[in-house]
Amino acid sequence: MLSEFRNEPLTDFGDDANRRAFAAALEKVGYRLPIEGRLWIGGQWIAKDATFASVNPSHRERAIGRFAKGSRSDAEKAIEAASKAFGAWKDVPSTQRADRLVRIANILRDRKHEFSAMMVLEEGKSWVEADADTAEAIDFCEFYAREMIRLSGPQPLTPVPGEKGELEFVPLGVGAVIPPWNFPLAILAGMTTAAIVAGNTVVLKPASDSAGIATMFVEAAIEAGVPDGVLNFVTGPGSEVGDALVESPKVRFIAFTGSKAVGLEINEKAAKVPPGQIWIKRTILEMGGKDFILVDETADLDSAADGVVSSAFGFQGQKCSACSRLIVVDSVHDALVQRVVEKTKALKLGPVENFENTVGPVINAGAQKKILAYIETGKKEGKLLAGGGPGPESGFFVEPTVIDEVSPDSTVAREEIFGPVLAVLRAKDFEAGVALANDTEYGLTGALYSKDPRRIAEGKRRLFCGNLYINRKCTGALVGAHPFGGFNMSGTDSKAGGREYLYLFTQAKSIAEKVS
Ligand code: NDP
Repeated sequence: MLSEFRNEPLTDFGDDANRRAFAAALEKVGYRLPIEGRLWIGGQWIAKDATFASVNPSHRERAIGRFAKGSRSDAEKAIEAASKAFGAWKDVPSTQRADRLVRIANILRDRKHEFSAMMVLEEGKSWVEADADTAEAIDFCEFYAREMIRLSGPQPLTPVPGEKGELEFVPLGVGAVIPPWNFPLAILAGMTTAAIVAGNTVVLKPASDSAGIATMFVEAAIEAGVPDGVLNFVTGPGSEVGDALVESPKVRFIAFTGSKAVGLEINEKAAKVPPGQIWIKRTILEMGGKDFILVDETADLDSAADGVVSSAFGFQGQKCSACSRLIVVDSVHDALVQRVVEKTKALKLGPVENFENTVGPVINAGAQKKILAYIETGKKEGKLLAGGGPGPESGFFVEPTVIDEVSPDSTVAREEIFGPVLAVLRAKDFEAGVALANDTEYGLTGALYSKDPRRIAEGKRRLFCGNLYINRKCTGALVGAHPFGGFNMSGTDSKAGGREYLYLFTQAKSIAEKVS
């Protein structure tokens, strides 16, 4: 019997002992580098001659590892292995499947700082951000374990005289799990374990920029006793491995989190029915955001400025939930923006092996170039108030950047930049602010800062996004507390970490038995 779900506590880095333990983990993980990555198919580690490299974004010359460049044929072998394993895994009692997730959670918890340290080195996460990522991964395992047990129990049905009714949630089959690099442990672990605990088997294709932490997760799953073929792991290019998975007639569902462009492409390809496919592929697609914080004239401006800076620049703005639009009511515009700019300029940018640097690099050279190009556009579209350039030359840094007075139709107010760039829009009043907040093709997160109860009620009713926060930052969703997923072009609103999530990985079988 599992205890009631509780979120994993975050590490208190104010405590010297925790800081020393984390520094030791960084050193330990550092010794392991460079990783020689392999594929894991049907219970075998497979090395490949063709490889791709991953580097530490804080220090472009430091290698994280070389990873196997899987091919279309590797993806097909992995699908075969998953299909074979499905026959037995689907019949394993849900309590035993849930037990594997709890064991994975225990391994993640026991070596928490090592997993986090890998994200510091491979993704450029600050210690605090990496620690939160690992905690969220633990939460997903613990939460979905409990949810599966709940779903396996008797389901409420309207009684019919002379009949015994049952509703069972049965697995779908082989799933392709395709996560992004930005929550490289939490999202990967969440999508994979949800699929597995529901009785499906999986081919996991991690993002190429986070193949190292993905390898560590797969090793943990093997150690936790996830049987051969239930979890298969194929690193390699999205365009080849990803396509092979999405197009296969043997894949029953695709769980994807990533950009709008790739999500829409997957949606289109998955809709085609190749010869031999006897189902409509299910797609669970979580995509980008252009998230807002709306601040009205009654708000606590210090608290709002803290929330904005933390939401805009935490993990360098590379969160789907990051605040990239600050919408502020005219009468408090100057006072708020001044606070935001001061706090932004006080952020410490640099290699994140150093705890003091809370803002690190962006993920790779391509992202750095793209973000800097957006900033150049933004400089023409508005008024640059902070940042605007690259940071230290050792890595792929971009200074936390604030661009004020942008118009609603400007590029930096509309497109997902996925970097440390905040566009500030001035609203005539609260009413105009709500309209600006909703003026986007996305609809993932948003926050309203106001002390006026009527405005708060209005905001709750009219602000259109999957995760709305009142008087707090718009990042930092907690499993179980804030089921996560967005509207419109932000995806299929799957609500990861919520009670509805596992339904997406199952199909319900209704059974009515005549009784005398
Ligand atoms: P991408 O869309 O570039 O990649 C996501 C995954 O898809 C990666 O594993 C990638 O592999 C793979 N992929 C790429 N091309 C294909 C293809 N043709 N077929 C199948 N798979 C493919 O996104 P990022 O990794 O850059 O992640 C950032 C994006 O994710 C942002 O837009 C962000 O908003 C969004 N996101 C959304 C979240 C949400 O909950 N809504 C949460 C977190 C991020 P490879 O790396 O090898 O290219």
